[in-house]
Amino acid sequence: MTQSTPGPVGRFRTGRLVEGRPQALDVWLVTTHDAEVAARVAGLLGGRPQPNEGGEELDHDVLTEVETVRVLVDGPDALASHMILRDSTGIIHQCDGLEFLSPEEKKGRPCGCPPLFEDRKLAAKEGRGPMPSISLTFRIAAEPALGEFRFLTGSWQMAAQLSDLTEALERIDSPAVCDLTLELVVHTTRSGRGFCYRKPVLTVLGSPGTVAPQPPPTAEPTPAPAPSPRRRRARPVPEPAIPPALEPSQTVSVNVALLRRAAEVLGTDSHEKTVIAALTGVVAGQHQTAELLRLREQVGQIAALAGQALQGGDSSLT
Ligand SMILES: [Zn+2]
Repeated sequence: MTQSTPGPVGRFRTGRLVEGRPQALDVWLVTTHDAEVAARVAGLLGGRPQPNEGGEELDHDVLTEVETVRVLVDGPDALASHMILRDSTGIIHQCDGLEFLSPEEKKGRPCGCPPLFEDRKLAAKEGRGPMPSISLTFRIAAEPALGEFRFLTGSWQMAAQLSDLTEALERIDSPAVCDLTLELVVHTTRSGRGFCYRKPVLTVLGSPGTVAPQPPPTAEPTPAPAPSPRRRRARPVPEPAIPPALEPSQTVSVNVALLRRAAEVLGTDSHEKTVIAALTGVVAGQHQTAELLRLREQVGQIAALAGQALQGGDSSLT
């Protein structure tokens, strides 16, 4: 227990372990050892605090209902990164891309990482080279007094944006207001198979005086203005929300409630698989086919969103 040392009050995560298997998430998961923080996070970002089942050091999970969190980032130092490769003995290559940071006996010497990102990725994939390790420290813009949170990622996409992000953060008097987003990326292979994933994206927006502390509402289900005491059950009852008209955008956002409903019908266990199933028309049983027909219109909207991301590429959706 290292709670006596000041540090982040919680972590933002893009995935979790479910029965020992990693599961990618399409909304932010916040873990914290502080029950009050968990309750406030749930109040701000949706979801309910749950006891952490993974046996980690943090006790409370909040699976939020948002893919974008508006945050305050205290200058470029809040964004730390290095490249790291471990083996069973520990760290064997930690560098800044040019020089070793560790092991100690190699510190300051050229590390030999290739200059091109693609070459670095390949080396990492083959176990020869280090992976990015990025740490972002921030506060939630809507309630900075909650304390600092941390997000750790090995995202190559974010690593590729680091110098731009650092420059953007340098240009703004601290703290910078940013959006931290789990952005849906939809791809299709040459054979027409669709797949998608989420990538973390940090967008520097401006200073607190010029940017609202909350992101604008998205296509996700948001609480209606009228009080609705039945909402926010453990298993949210999907309301027949009609997503707003699609806007041409490089960022694809989808209606989470709709995806959940489609997942129930399609028997898929992740939003990614749901979209893939919607795209490819892979449906297991006849009764599911019938139900899919009823949902076709709605699922078609998911496919349309995906289609946008594919920029008019071949889709096997019928
Ligand atoms: Zn290196």
